[in-house]
Amino acid sequence: MKSDEFRKTGYEIVDWISDYMDNVEDYPVKSQVAPGEIYSKLPAMPPLRGESMDTILKDFKKILIPGITHWQSPNFFAYFPANTSGPSILAEMLTSALGTQCMIWETTPAAAELEERVLNWLRDITGLPKQFEGVIQDTASGATLAALITAREKACGFEINEKGFREDNKLRVYCSKQAHSSVEKDVKIAGFGRENLVKIDVDANYAMDSNALLNAIEKDISDGKTPCCVVATIGTTGTTAIDPLKETGEICNRFGIWLHVDAALAGTALILPEFSWMIEGKEYIDSLVFNPHKWMFTNFDCSVYFVRDSETLIKTFEILPEYLKTRTKGEVNDYRDWGIPLGRRFRALKLWFVIRFYGLEGLRDKIRGHITYAGELAEMIKKDRSFELLAPVPLNTVAFRFNPGGLSEKKVNSINEQLNHQLNDTGKIYLTHTSLDGRYTLRMVVGQTNVTIDHVRNAWSLIKEKSAEIKL
Ligand SMILES: *Cc1c(COP(=O)(O)O)cnc(C)c1O
Repeated sequence: MKSDEFRKTGYEIVDWISDYMDNVEDYPVKSQVAPGEIYSKLPAMPPLRGESMDTILKDFKKILIPGITHWQSPNFFAYFPANTSGPSILAEMLTSALGTQCMIWETTPAAAELEERVLNWLRDITGLPKQFEGVIQDTASGATLAALITAREKACGFEINEKGFREDNKLRVYCSKQAHSSVEKDVKIAGFGRENLVKIDVDANYAMDSNALLNAIEKDISDGKTPCCVVATIGTTGTTAIDPLKETGEICNRFGIWLHVDAALAGTALILPEFSWMIEGKEYIDSLVFNPHKWMFTNFDCSVYFVRDSETLIKTFEILPEYLKTRTKGEVNDYRDWGIPLGRRFRALKLWFVIRFYGLEGLRDKIRGHITYAGELAEMIKKDRSFELLAPVPLNTVAFRFNPGGLSEKKVNSINEQLNHQLNDTGKIYLTHTSLDGRYTLRMVVGQTNVTIDHVRNAWSLIKEKSAEIKL
């Protein structure tokens, strides 16, 4: 592509993106297409000769846009957010234009040093201990996998890396019943075996019951097994429950167990001084991950992974083929040794843009706003006798259901499922659900970059309106 054509199409695309940002609320939040609809509109064979950018862009708008779910709509209340922001998108453009590989310092010194600086910023503004060092990973799932493998190697004296698992390596991993499914997936991939993941009961607030954790660990020890790692969650995916870190940490410390903290969403709230209580007991943490690609307005993918002892991490992952030997080894950070992939994009750039554009106060205002709006929503739900809150609301996620009274649990579940589908089919808002003690639970997550209290109030009106239409 010649630079003239690039420039012309580039301006067009930037115009389109700017209009998209202004008008994102005009699209149905959840894509309304049927399965196969998009696929059938795409030709069976690729073009033999190159096509014009005009034609490609026309098809992008006509064929693909209807199949897009608009995660950047402020009426998106589903899952957890995957936010972007202007500065982040612009940085991504530069990252893709530079197209650098950031596997070792030498392959892009600025990327390695910016990553080190920005991760130290994040460590300090979230209140993590000073000796922690950070690295950008693709996802929380990937970072937790890195944590589990590191914990595994530490527990076996780096033997499994060399010889593989032995019959008598009975290493055990613990997390709560509300922990994210990625923990189970990672336990499988890291070779522990799913049977060696112990899911601990939760208390009335859906946080890990630390007495049950202690009992499980003691039982395993008396059965000749080796407790290896506890994954505590700060902000569970279902209800943003916060596992008791101090008690959990004391147990880990007592038995020499690796403590990994999954704070995928909630880690961002640690920039608010009023939420520092979430990591009380931080002196016991070995590793922690959170996702700026969820709640810190930074495009996917960008997870930040912090470790107390980077040497153990590097010892676990390091591999040194001849072609990667450099003169600077040991003086600088070669991040390929800090996780699984070799190739790495220049992801620190977007974090740097975002943090500088908003400033710490700007980020705090936004996050505080979201938490306040979620609190207001919880109050509105509490006041309505046809609805009930199903979990505490420590952060930005409200778990609730429609329960007009006098109906069986089974019926209440089915009307809430119906309500969820009917709401999403309007295209006006998008909510997803979870299950709490067998109850179909609607979740409303207030965390999109541009969400305001008006979006939340309008969503609540729509929920009430649609619930009134349900035949009981
Ligand atoms: C979203 C989430 C994850 C998974 O995040 P990815 O970055 O998509 O892997 C893990 N843990 C928790 C608690 C989450 O909310």
